[in-house]
Amino acid sequence: MPGERLWRQQRLRQWQQRRQRQQEQQQQEQQQQEQQQQEQQQQEEQQQQEQQQQEQQQQEQQQQEQQQQEQQQQEQQQQEQQQQEQQQQEQQQQEQQQQEQQQQEQQQQEQQQQEQQQQEQQQQEQQQQEQQQQEQQQQEQQQQEQQQQEQQQQEQQQQEQQQQEQQQQEQQQQEQQQQEQRGGGSSLLMVAAAAREIQSKHCLMMRHNHHHNSNNHHTAAATTTTAAAVVATCLSGPNFSCKFSRTARPPMCAMCYGRPHDDRCIFRPYKCPCYGPTACTWQGSLRGVLPHLAQAHPRVPKLCGTDVLFQATNLEKPPPTFWLMVQVCLGHQFILALEKRTVSQEVRFATSLLLVGPDHLAPSFTYRVELGSSHHRRMSYEATPRPLRDGIARVIADKDGLFFSKEVARLFAENKTLAIASSIARC
Ligand code: ZN
Repeated sequence: MPGERLWRQQRLRQWQQRRQRQQEQQQQEQQQQEQQQQEQQQQEEQQQQEQQQQEQQQQEQQQQEQQQQEQQQQEQQQQEQQQQEQQQQEQQQQEQQQQEQQQQEQQQQEQQQQEQQQQEQQQQEQQQQEQQQQEQQQQEQQQQEQQQQEQQQQEQQQQEQQQQEQQQQEQQQQEQQQQEQRGGGSSLLMVAAAAREIQSKHCLMMRHNHHHNSNNHHTAAATTTTAAAVVATCLSGPNFSCKFSRTARPPMCAMCYGRPHDDRCIFRPYKCPCYGPTACTWQGSLRGVLPHLAQAHPRVPKLCGTDVLFQATNLEKPPPTFWLMVQVCLGHQFILALEKRTVSQEVRFATSLLLVGPDHLAPSFTYRVELGSSHHRRMSYEATPRPLRDGIARVIADKDGLFFSKEVARLFAENKTLAIASSIARC
């Protein structure tokens, strides 16, 4: 039996070895498995890590995208804001431009208005200047005429003074001769007679003129006293002054010695040319005659031109009556009068033409009055105008006009209206 044992032992050994091997193999397998597991785990871990990384990356990407989006949104917002601001700025600029344009237009309108106003003002000023110039020219013309009148008057005064002085000297010489012949007693009578004559005429004239000039009715006693005082001063020497003019020089009184002073004094007032049954008592300066006619006798017509036709209506009015017309031409005014009166129980008509101006200008004009315009029947009279100072009555008394009968008047009249053509020209 020892052999079996050995066998067994060997068998056992072999089994043990096998077992060891198996165990070792198992261990190896286990190790391998473990390794594999570890590897797997590692792999898994890696995968997880990778996944995590990927997720992180994705998150980051998302975040980045979000950030980008936000940035884009912000940028968009900023852009929109900028655009809005730009639009607002543009709107503001446009409004400013519109306001400026409106202001400019307003300024232009104001400037235009100002210019228009200035133009109107200039036109007004020009018109005023022209009016002033015209008025000045008229005034200068009037002044020149006045000066001419005054010069003529002064010359006439001097001539009359010289004549008067000559007459005085002659009278004095005659008186001296008479005194020498008749003795001293009669000279006193001569002086007294002259004084009475002068006194009576002065008295009449002064009473008349005082009434018309000042409407101050003096009593007869006062007038007589004044006249006596005038005579006294006249006879006493050169202290006499003309009652019609305060500027007349004392030598004027020399006229009082020989003949009445007042009805020859060049300073005596002009009378209204309207005379006749309803005589006008107006008296005044030469320049006041036409204004008085226009104001007090507005029915007197005023015709302009060198050739006018004067219509005398109501020719059958009973005498005495007269018609009056003012003719304006050649820078002067003339008065044409037609008078109807009874002379020696016959009705007579007479014309007269007067220059409303200084006496010396009258001879520088000619005029013609004419009845009838047909070739079959015509009647005319030509002459130089008479100065207004002469008066209508004196012109008619001088037969200086067209005279005709009632029958002739009816021959030329139509519908009781007599047409008288008047033509005035310079010499
Ligand atoms: Zn009058």
